Amino acid sequence: MKINNFCIANWKMNLDVDECLNFLKKFNSFKNVHAGTKVVICPSYTSIYPCVNHDNTFSLSWGSQDISNNFNGSYTGEVSLDMVEKLGCEYTIVGHSERRANFNETNDIVAEKFIKIYNSSLTPILCIGESLNDRNNGNFKNILTSQIDNILSKLSIIDKNIIIAYEPIWAIGTGVSADLKTISETHSLLKNIIKKYTLKNCNIWLLYGGSVNDDNAKSIISLENVDGFLIGGASLSPENFYKIYSSMGGL
Ligand code: PEP
Repeated sequence: MKINNFCIANWKMNLDVDECLNFLKKFNSFKNVHAGTKVVICPSYTSIYPCVNHDNTFSLSWGSQDISNNFNGSYTGEVSLDMVEKLGCEYTIVGHSERRANFNETNDIVAEKFIKIYNSSLTPILCIGESLNDRNNGNFKNILTSQIDNILSKLSIIDKNIIIAYEPIWAIGTGVSADLKTISETHSLLKNIIKKYTLKNCNIWLLYGGSVNDDNAKSIISLENVDGFLIGGASLSPENFYKIYSSMGGL
């Protein structure tokens, strides 16, 4: 089945196991009406196993919110790619701005993790985005270019699917998304950045993330070069998340 766009939930450190299962019970009562839209949920590590093993009439796919940049060994508190892969994850977020800001993840650490994911069966969801300061002083172009080039330049040919989520830091969790003009211009900039890479039998989807909700989803998804959403806050309610998914159909 060809995937036109993605509707991805990043639950962050929210929803314990019971709450996740309640969400799924409700969400599975909704109809999966858009065959071309892939819905992926990224619960906290502790909820992945119960979620994957819950009834899944909706055909949800699963992702982790991060992985360790080490394969295994003495790294207390870390979770490896292999571990989430064996639980049934097909995707993993990498380089979320909260990891970059709160856990000192540099572009080089993100690149290390990305390459590990790229070389596995998982599809990376690479998060990029600029601060408000960099948006206002015009430096955002350099920031976004280096966040992408620092990774993709390490691959001679791209022959596996990749998801890139443009998430302006100033729009995350604020309740106010970037405006349509900003999203449109930035996504065409991103399209240009990735144009220089050779793709073989694969795709790069460009998602938007940052205060997406059921009011703004329809107009954002209608923009050229926007191939879906990465959603934080609004993905915690099955009704709101489904409304966003519903607004993506037929595109
Ligand atoms: C996020 O953190 O990935 C995100 C997009 O959050 P929110 O939708 O809450 O802005």
